Amino acid sequence: MSQRYITVADLNDWLTRELQMQPECEGSKLTMKYRLREPDPANGCNWSEATVRIGFGCDAGHVGAVAARIVDRARLQFNVLCEKCQELADAPVQTPALAEHLRPQTPVGSGTGYGLREFRTLEPYDPFRCIGEHGSCNARWLRVGSGASGFEWHLHQQD
Ligand SMILES: [Zn+2]
Repeated sequence: MSQRYITVADLNDWLTRELQMQPECEGSKLTMKYRLREPDPANGCNWSEATVRIGFGCDAGHVGAVAARIVDRARLQFNVLCEKCQELADAPVQTPALAEHLRPQTPVGSGTGYGLREFRTLEPYDPFRCIGEHGSCNARWLRVGSGASGFEWHLHQQD
């Protein structure tokens, strides 16, 4: 599965917009509920459930059924960023060379059991991956810039 990573705010906007486009759901709102620590083993989605607010005069049963279908679809399309990655998305220019919760996706050295045999320099295009201990989201990032004025982090979406 290859969900696209977005912020919680963007996901909530998307969910509510999709819901409000459906007939007889006007004024209703749909927002995600839980950011999962581990992705769903069935489909890799890292958030779960949603809260629906029924618009004035709308039928709760109808809106609920429509919302459930939208959530099913969204879980295959989107993953949400963890809190650390969310912070990085909000402030993508960082002075430290490395964001503490990101690691190079390709190891810079490889071990053979007798210590490191091979080393290579980290290239500017090497992707990093979020592997934070708690609730890491696995998002991939690219680091851009020389560092003179800080590095800029860009989300690197799976294709
Ligand atoms: Zn993350």
